This record gives sequence, structure tokens and C-alpha cells, in this order.
Amino acid sequence: MDIPKVELHSHLNGSIRNSTLKDLLTNLSVPIPRTLQNPELEESTRTLSECFEIFPLIHLAVSTSSALRRVVRETLSDFESDNVIYLELRTTPRTLDSGSVGKREYVDLVLSEMKKWVEDKGTRLIPRLIISIDRSRGVEEARENMDIAKELFKMGHDYVVGVDLGGNPTKGTFKEFKGLLEEVRTAGMKVTVHAGEVDNLEEVNDIVAFRPDRLGHFLCVDDGVWEKMEREGGDIPIEVCPTSNVMTLGLEGLGQHPILERLVKEGYPVSINTDDAGVFNTKQSLELYRVAETLGLNEYTVSGLVWGAVDLVFEGNRRTRARVARDVMKGIKGI
Ligand code: 5GP
Repeated sequence: MDIPKVELHSHLNGSIRNSTLKDLLTNLSVPIPRTLQNPELEESTRTLSECFEIFPLIHLAVSTSSALRRVVRETLSDFESDNVIYLELRTTPRTLDSGSVGKREYVDLVLSEMKKWVEDKGTRLIPRLIISIDRSRGVEEARENMDIAKELFKMGHDYVVGVDLGGNPTKGTFKEFKGLLEEVRTAGMKVTVHAGEVDNLEEVNDIVAFRPDRLGHFLCVDDGVWEKMEREGGDIPIEVCPTSNVMTLGLEGLGQHPILERLVKEGYPVSINTDDAGVFNTKQSLELYRVAETLGLNEYTVSGLVWGAVDLVFEGNRRTRARVARDVMKGIKGI
């Protein structure tokens, strides 16, 4: 799948290269866990709870400004090598360098490294930033993150395009964060919410009623949820992350994905994404390939999926959106 692609659901720290993670842990004299020593083991055994065990380890490894800068640069390079031309990376602000770098500086650092990388490379990749809430860390931290997002958005920062509610879905509730998300939406920002990663229909219904601009994953849903969505405004675009979904749901393969076939066959607005390219040992082209292989799609239908995702980007600048659309279309025509 070498056509130009867009990636809309990708966590910065989850995109860390395994080699970099090992390298940073070694420098800190932290023992390398067994799953990181064997890539095959890694790929086959990451359940949802194992994933949420690995993130603290990644955060420990990426606890300095220089490590964060490295992860930003390498992540952008990896997506660029996979011919992703528009990338919405998301990250949760946190402190670095034993607390001397605050959350706002964390975000500034990510943004400045992105800009620098773009300028140095003269690349056609357009990176953008979504600022995340980690629901396991409570409302106060979430407010700080949303204040940073609103401030940057108000300043007109061209890279900051939206906010996200993520983090361990077994911790906290959507209701706790709803008011904050409402505030950022009122400020004009786009909102995406992780939904239905675990069985919690009450929460999924609350999220659907909130009507975010996009939904992440949306796996554990029933007919009532779809009916509600239809009744209350129609389709909300879904960010599908095939490999991540297979692993976190403990499925035998993508053929068992609860909604993928329905979404693709019914022409639902979806984007296909990596989620955590490092943690799941994947890339966008591989995700598209797996979808194509599982559903028996030809190259043109897969291209149609990529083209459909262009319509779902959070980028507000019309000229930039037009550029992305033109570049994707040029690539598709070249098949
Ligand atoms: P970061 O925000 O530190 O750049 O990226 C890692 C964080 O993204 C994790 O600590 C977690 O909060 C969030 N995250 C990564 N993958 C997933 C996922 O599959 N589901 C949810 N709900 N959150 C995730």
C-alpha cells in the first residue's frame, strides 16, 4: 500500500520504536521486560491490560526532553517512510526531566520538534497534534491539559487541531470529563473520544449522545447504540485500529472484528490507523493490507478507504486540506 495515506489515530509514546525503547531503558539501567526481548512474543500477546502495563514503562524511558525529541523525530520519520502524508499524532502532556519541564513545556517541545523536523526535511508530510486526556489521571489533570489545548488553539497555533479522551478505559468515567470536552468544543476545537474498548454500554451511549467529531475504536456496541446514533444526528466517523483491536479484544484474527466488515461494506465514514505503531509493531500500510486481505478488497477499494479518511481530518485550514486531498488523489490515480 504505497499510496499516500492519512493517519488519524496515533499515540505519540505508543509509536516509539522497540529499538529506541530498549535503548532508553538500557541507558537508565532498567531491566528489559521479556516481551520486548522477543518481537514475536510481543506481537501475539498484547492484551488491553498488558498494553496499559507497558505505557508506564514507555513513559519511564521517555522521561527527558532529549528522549521525547528523539521519539517525535523517529515517529515522524517512520510515518513518512510509510508514505503517510498527513498525520494527527496525539499525546498526553506530562512533566519531564524530574519535573523541571512542565506540561505546557512538554507540548511546546513536541510542537517545536515537529516544526523543526518539517523544516529540516523539506518533507510533504503534514504533522498535526491532538492533545489527550488520560482518563485514569483524573479531572484536575485533564483540566490542565484542556487549558493548554485551548490556549494554543486561541493563539492560532497551526499544528494544534483537536483534543482526545483516552487512557485506560477501565478507569474513570466519560461523565467526569464531559463538561471539559464541552468547553473545548465551545472554544471551536474538534473532539475525538475513545469509546467501547471494554463492555460498558451505558458509557458508550453517553459518548454517542455527546456526539464527538470522531470516535476511537467503538468495539463493544449493540444495535441500540447504532439506532441511537442514527436517531440523534447520524453517523459519527470511526477511527478503526485493526491490529490494536485484535490484540486488545483477544481475537484470533481480524476476521473476528466486531464491526469492521459492516463499516467497510456499508460505506461508513472510517479511517484505518495504527494506534500505537511501536506497541503493536505495525504501520499504516500494514493495517490497510490486513483489512484488504481479511475482507477481500482490491486496491481500488482500499484506496477508497484512504480517500474517505481525507474527509475526516481535523485540520481547519482549507488550503492544507485541499493539498492533502490532491496528494492522495494523485497517488491513487497513479495506481
Ligand atoms: P502518550 O499520550 O503518552 O503520547 O501515548 C501513550 C498513552 O496513550 C497511554 O498512556 C494511554 O493513555 C493512551 N493510549 C494508547 N493506546 C491506547 C488505546 O488503545 N486505548 C486507550 N484508551 N488509550 C490509549
